[in-house]
Amino acid sequence: MVNPESRIQNPEALNPMQSFLSHLECTNCSETFSCDEIHTTCPACAKVLYARYDLDAAKQNFRKEDLAGRAPDMWRWFELMPVRNSEHVISLGEGHTPLLHARTLGGQHNATNLFIKEEGLNPTGSFKARGLSAAVSRARELGVSSIAIPSAGNAAAALSAYGARAGISAHVYMPADTPQMMKTEAVAYGAELTLVDGLINDAGKQLRDVAKANGWFDISTLKEPYRAEGKKTMGLELAEQFDWELPDAIIYPTGGGTGIVGMWKAFDELEALGWIGSKRPKMISVQSEGCAPIVKAFNDGATSASLWENAQTIAPGLRVPVAIADYLILQAIRESGGTAIAVSDAETLDALRAIASSEGIFAAPEGAATCAACIKLFDSGFLNRDEKVVLFNTGSGLKTPELFA
Ligand SMILES: *Cc1c(COP(=O)(O)O)cnc(C)c1O
Ligand SMILES: [Zn+2]
Repeated sequence: MVNPESRIQNPEALNPMQSFLSHLECTNCSETFSCDEIHTTCPACAKVLYARYDLDAAKQNFRKEDLAGRAPDMWRWFELMPVRNSEHVISLGEGHTPLLHARTLGGQHNATNLFIKEEGLNPTGSFKARGLSAAVSRARELGVSSIAIPSAGNAAAALSAYGARAGISAHVYMPADTPQMMKTEAVAYGAELTLVDGLINDAGKQLRDVAKANGWFDISTLKEPYRAEGKKTMGLELAEQFDWELPDAIIYPTGGGTGIVGMWKAFDELEALGWIGSKRPKMISVQSEGCAPIVKAFNDGATSASLWENAQTIAPGLRVPVAIADYLILQAIRESGGTAIAVSDAETLDALRAIASSEGIFAAPEGAATCAACIKLFDSGFLNRDEKVVLFNTGSGLKTPELFA
């Protein structure tokens, strides 16, 4: 009998899993820090810290074949994950999502190699589950007993769920006009919900002082090092699903940018292991015309983005006026030869209907936005219709039925 909670389905067949996490490194000033104490942003320059691994040792001890016998979730990448002891993993089965060939949708645009990475199947209905499974697991391993998050919606739902599973009290702050389902989820999972007049950045400001006063650990996007480690598993999975040959382009809906920078980091780690070569996909960031700080910065040739005033869009995950990782997102886009593009809410809704009726995938508006962007990039010639293109459907449309009311 295999223990259903075991990270390894056939324990005798394999060596025990070991994380090669070695330290934290600042993405801006390169200062290094211990990973075995709690860190948020860089104490020296306040920028984003990344988890680093001993990739030489990992290369000696971790093989593609090791993946085969493992539980079908993102923790099968344990060697490249930031938890020391696999018993500390807080999992609801996140990750290992399907990569679907979108033949009909692609066919409507004469595109034969269009794929959808279907993240709507994750626990709590969005890819936020990956980041929060990683962050909550590591926080609990380091002794944290209460956690908090400002969120545009899905991150709060996911934090609440993993908090419940970990037995850690969760405090979530979201805009008052967040889609109802995401508020309902947080309450159902037993989190303390605070509704804020404003957007995610206002929620973050309100939360900061209360969290400090109460000793809550703040799991804001890229203000602690481990959510990005969960999100990077999307990049690891793509490499495996495409048989270690990355696609030509990845189109990704960008709010805080954890997904795009996480995948970019994943590709470097896989190359260091010798599992992939130096080929990288064009990383394409999609935002909404009503909130497009990264698109504007990209078009202006800037290395950082300014706050977007009066942000407005039907896609909650794209309603992010300012991102601490702006410089990392812009770097990934530029180094990859990608681009950044904004789409309108009307284009997004058209794409949502098209994906649902052609492929049977009820996408989140953020995911639909990637399809709208893809069509524009085919039309403009930035993408060739025979290129291997992956759209990220980052969440389930079941969360926002009001879009169809
Ligand atoms: C949060 C969210 C996004 C944006 O993700 P980032 O990685 O923070 O840029 C996109 N889609 C959905 C459904 C989300 O919940
Ligand atoms: Zn620094």
